[in-house]
Amino acid sequence: LMQLSIPLNFIGFVYREIRQGLTDIEQMFDLLEVEAEVLDKPGAYELVIDKGAIAFKDVHFAYDPARPILKGISFEVPAGKTVAVVGPSGAGKSTLSRLLYRFYDVQDGEITIDGQDVRDLTQKSVRAAIGMVPQDTVLFNDTLAYNIRYGRPSANDAEVQAAAEIAQIGEFIKHLPEGYAAMVGERGLKLSGGEKQRVAIARTVLKSPPILILDEATSALDTRTEQEIQAALEIVSQNRTTLVIAHRLSTVIHADEIIVLKDGVIAERGTHGELIDRDGLYASMWSRQREATQAEEQLKRVQEED
Ligand code: ADP
Ligand code: MG
Repeated sequence: LMQLSIPLNFIGFVYREIRQGLTDIEQMFDLLEVEAEVLDKPGAYELVIDKGAIAFKDVHFAYDPARPILKGISFEVPAGKTVAVVGPSGAGKSTLSRLLYRFYDVQDGEITIDGQDVRDLTQKSVRAAIGMVPQDTVLFNDTLAYNIRYGRPSANDAEVQAAAEIAQIGEFIKHLPEGYAAMVGERGLKLSGGEKQRVAIARTVLKSPPILILDEATSALDTRTEQEIQAALEIVSQNRTTLVIAHRLSTVIHADEIIVLKDGVIAERGTHGELIDRDGLYASMWSRQREATQAEEQLKRVQEED
């Protein structure tokens, strides 16, 4: 396990470093030379949010026609509920979130929000309704206050600070010499992955969208940071329709439904308890992660003793 996890972490590290200077998600796509794949249809209309229910109906998708990624995915996220998607790396989990946010369009089937096919809607109105906390948060080369306020430019200082508190980053910022005026990014403060993610959560708290997409950061976070972020996310996702893409299974125990994605299809689905009882793929992922977490904790204890 150690032999495998070190190179993977390293690749993640390099990837994040490359991305650190970037300013926003659209620009991030530019830099990765991903074309804007999706344009508004003539006559596209604005999303009307009722309660924010999401449905994926027999969704098929491939980046490259020769290699299908999603092969008929159907599930719902009822209004205000939380659905978690888990599965091996490369299974297509993040792709689901990109389709909902409309970075790409489905090739067959449909995705609806309150019954409206996202392909018929303006991208602007879809994105306004969704708070996206991506896997690798990208910050502007500007102050912390600016980065948080981006979620709702009209927010005042007290609201920005309240959002930071909810996202568990308020204390950290207060202890900086320049506080909320501290510059981040290329020429400023270098934040860790967990800190950046909490800034993104604060931004989302301010935006206060009816729908949330959380693409959890991968193994780069230690267990404690993970727990702090988890606490922040639980507060944010209350009463919001939430699609969470989870790497650490400890974070999905309370999801209303867990979807296990593998090889482009739903391999298993159910609550945590149901999936453990089933003793299939999820149960084996669960026991493997427990062992990894215990090993990590043991390693830390040994290091502290030194
Ligand atoms: P997961 O989040 O489950 O790890 P992704 O949804 O990111 O997986 O990716 C699913 C598959 O699609 C992977 O094999 C990945 O390499 C491929 N993929 C992701 N993004 C692109 C892209 N922009 N172009 C081509 N292939 C991609
Ligand atoms: Mg992913």
